[in-house]
Amino acid sequence: MRDYTDFYINGQWLAPDGRDKLEVINPATEQVAGHISLGTVNDVNEAVKAASAAFQTFSQSSKQERHDLLSAICVEYKKRSPEIAAAITEEMGAPKWLSESNQAASGYLHFKAAIKVLEGFDFEFQQDTAIIRKEPIGVCGFITPWNWPINQIGCKLAPALATGCTVVWKPSEEAPFSAYLLMEVLHDAGVPKGVVNMINGDGLTVGSAISSHPEIQMVSFTGSTRAGTAVAQDAAPSIKRVTQELGGKSPNVILGDLSEEAFGKAVAGGVKTLCVNSGQNCNAPSRMLVPENRLSEAEEIVKKTMSKITVGEPDEERVFAGPVVSLNQWQKIQQLVQTGMDEGAEVLVGGVGKPEGLDTGFYVRPTAFSKVTNDMRIAQEEIFGPVLCLLTYKDEAEAIALANDTDYGLSGYVSGADRESVNRVAKQIRAGMIHLNGAQMDRTAPFGGYKHSGNGRERGPQGFDEFLETKALLGVQ
Ligand code: NAD
Repeated sequence: MRDYTDFYINGQWLAPDGRDKLEVINPATEQVAGHISLGTVNDVNEAVKAASAAFQTFSQSSKQERHDLLSAICVEYKKRSPEIAAAITEEMGAPKWLSESNQAASGYLHFKAAIKVLEGFDFEFQQDTAIIRKEPIGVCGFITPWNWPINQIGCKLAPALATGCTVVWKPSEEAPFSAYLLMEVLHDAGVPKGVVNMINGDGLTVGSAISSHPEIQMVSFTGSTRAGTAVAQDAAPSIKRVTQELGGKSPNVILGDLSEEAFGKAVAGGVKTLCVNSGQNCNAPSRMLVPENRLSEAEEIVKKTMSKITVGEPDEERVFAGPVVSLNQWQKIQQLVQTGMDEGAEVLVGGVGKPEGLDTGFYVRPTAFSKVTNDMRIAQEEIFGPVLCLLTYKDEAEAIALANDTDYGLSGYVSGADRESVNRVAKQIRAGMIHLNGAQMDRTAPFGGYKHSGNGRERGPQGFDEFLETKALLGVQ
């Protein structure tokens, strides 16, 4: 049982202001795995006070000092990575292999990537007659989700520390264990007191107190479009900068010029990518677009690949996908799968209910729909589960139109034999990151959304800019 009920404020673990506690449920067992405290506005005020005081000195630290601090965090993080992976599995159900190789590893990789960006980043340069300075924006408020709990804070925290900002962070109340361990890592790495503060709590109390706090200069939010809108509304009166990393419904365009073998690889790769983390990925390739004349070929591969996705207890070696995070999430997925059936889409594999033999735990059947049209709810709403929509197009122009016929614009995927066609299609998809022919993630490339998928970018030099104000010095001799 993990009882992580203190908050980390001003370099110490402190008892919270209020008495309310929240049970944290292990989604694989449906049992209580631990408790956290629910913070209050007073807790947020204390954390902001500490972060504001720390900003006075941390904002003046040298690039070398911050480089050394990030390097020290990497050393401590590596030592605790296996423990962090186990905590992630317990709090949100990611299978052991994924927690170790991706979920926990992502924290270390974000700190490493920030070191690389910092080395090449100019905080001061000449522009015609002016000296341009980039200065840390101030106290930053971070609000993060449960689906990639360490990845989502790593890509905020690393650039914030690299640029000299201080932080007040509210992790997801559904996946708070790894956050607690990360704060222990930062403490052991020697992060100065007040530079990073962590308070647990719900969105409406702690989240909203962060978004609206007048001494917080920017808020960086990752989560649903619904909550991201609330954050921006709460933030507006204090004129703070708001960055939002929100939902997605990303298209995976598979072009018709691929050989039978390459087409099979692209379709199977799309299915597997969707099912990683039980489909709970903001950038999941959830709408697969194939040429009309290759639909039956695609259907066969989807069926074959998806029926081989092993769902089961996250600690088992052979398991590819664990449970989804909560009963709420499980019910939402069930409702949308039922909606797809009611809308007339054809179930190729999966459907409502739990996979055979998995009665306890929030397990979902990997599900693929064919004969989906883009006006169906299942093609427009983010399902956030292992549910694929297969759509067809007549020609390239229709593929691009369908790809863009969504409120979202986080990511896109394009595969094809002719490089020029692949590039041409990729350039016309209105989304922040496009993967060409199965290209993997690059942690120094900017990540973020168009349209309802958000505002601002994380990672790389563009990610640093979100934490910086720009000053022009005129008349410098
Ligand atoms: P969520 O919006 O319910 O919660 C995210 C965080 O916001 C939590 O910490 C929650 O407590 C807080 N919150 C909720 N309401 C709030 C409010 N009114 N004010 C302030 N804070 C509030 O999202 P979730 O269910 O935890 O995560 C899943 C969502 O996150 C999906 O939509 C997914 O696409 C999105 N996501 C986006 C990215 C990205 O980089 N674009 C990455 C991961 C997840």
